[in-house]
Amino acid sequence: MSRVDDLQEKYPSLPRQYIVRWDTRVHGLSDSGKLDEIGRWVPINPEGGAYANFDFDITLKDWVEAKPGRQKPGYVLRPARFVLPENGIEINHRDMINSKSDLEVRAEGNGRFALYQGEERVEEVWHQPSPAIGEKLTSSGKPESDFLSRRSRHCFGVYPLRDCEYFQLGLACKFCNFNPTHEDARSVGMGHSTTGDIKQTVEAYKRFASEVRIVEGIFVIGGLRDSDKEVTLAANFAEKLAPETPYHPNFSLCTQPMNRKNMQRLKDVGVDCLICNMEVWDPELFAEIVPGKAQYRGRERYLEAFQEAVGVFGAGNVTTNFAGGVTLIPERGHKTWQEARDSTIEGIDWMVRHGVLPSVSWLRFSPGAAYASEENRKKVPPTDFYLEVALAHHEACKKHGLYDKLNRLMLCPLDVLTSLICGELGAYELAGSLAEWTAAVVPREANRFRQWEEQHMSPPANR
Ligand code: SF4
Repeated sequence: MSRVDDLQEKYPSLPRQYIVRWDTRVHGLSDSGKLDEIGRWVPINPEGGAYANFDFDITLKDWVEAKPGRQKPGYVLRPARFVLPENGIEINHRDMINSKSDLEVRAEGNGRFALYQGEERVEEVWHQPSPAIGEKLTSSGKPESDFLSRRSRHCFGVYPLRDCEYFQLGLACKFCNFNPTHEDARSVGMGHSTTGDIKQTVEAYKRFASEVRIVEGIFVIGGLRDSDKEVTLAANFAEKLAPETPYHPNFSLCTQPMNRKNMQRLKDVGVDCLICNMEVWDPELFAEIVPGKAQYRGRERYLEAFQEAVGVFGAGNVTTNFAGGVTLIPERGHKTWQEARDSTIEGIDWMVRHGVLPSVSWLRFSPGAAYASEENRKKVPPTDFYLEVALAHHEACKKHGLYDKLNRLMLCPLDVLTSLICGELGAYELAGSLAEWTAAVVPREANRFRQWEEQHMSPPANR
């Protein structure tokens, strides 16, 4: 029996495909030397972290030196996107290589692929070629993705600043490799610029808007000590993009907490949703794991800011992330995954009660993160941790009525499936499928779950 079979027996209420995806997230996919068969050429992710999310001791530079054939100008070979035949949802993110994983995708001939755990065939997966978006250049001759990345056909990401001050100060969050990942990519000629450029971002945005109806966008900014400066930087970008379409796409901003006045300022320039990733709930471990956030914002300020943000943006329009299981890492941290689970669930419950949608990401250590070591890798919790947290999350959202208030684009997995936990079980239980869940907010031409259903599944009799 595979691990997924065991987990299915243990958690019978969870859809099997949900377990498959979590198990793949937790373990990554091994590079068993077959990357040429199962890989595709991709540019470096504009957010960074586009490689070796598990292989903490292999930088992109090492990778390229060891296997030069896996890089060509602007592109690197990564595992292709594999999806589940049931619903077209991917099992992997392209950067999920873990050379120590017992999971791999194997080509079975005739264009067929399957996920294996050792010699155990876990599940058939389909290779879904991503539509070739093609690299376009701005008028200055730079790739548009330097300024605006097309996260999916109708969604985008903008990076006003790819730099976090906490790294220079020795106060970076211990699991994070935001700056090193960009530096590493630059070292092999594949990096993106550190600071954004509004003029060229507007140019790329206008072209995007001329091609599709934009559904949503996210602005991501590295951490700054000065909150006003951080807000101004993000607000300037949102303010310039918002008037460029006659309709209003949903704008989210991922940043640190700010004061109420600045929240209103962001709202006024077109930001709809605020994402402030707290990462650690436990009050005793917060400062140890996220020292910069603790010193320049503080845990109490996070909690006050969430409540103020719900007042400004509305319940269901504010979210946070917890780095799942990270509290197992410090010397004086949680000793068992069950302790870490209970602490995370406490944080989830607080968030949901206050109208904030929490998500939980899987734990991995990438080159450049303070916690990246073989010893720490052994402390990563089992898939059970994430499944039990997901079940508790679902119950909390039902109990406190958060699903009814939720901005559905907040858990729309069309653009990025970085975390699977932020309400997806509710989408299955309340709407039946992700296609139904997203139907109200994502037009058909942008809704690849709907398109998948139409292409590959028989429609229900009553539709
Ligand atoms: S604030 Fe923390 S999580 Fe965010 S970029 Fe800086 S170190 Fe990474």
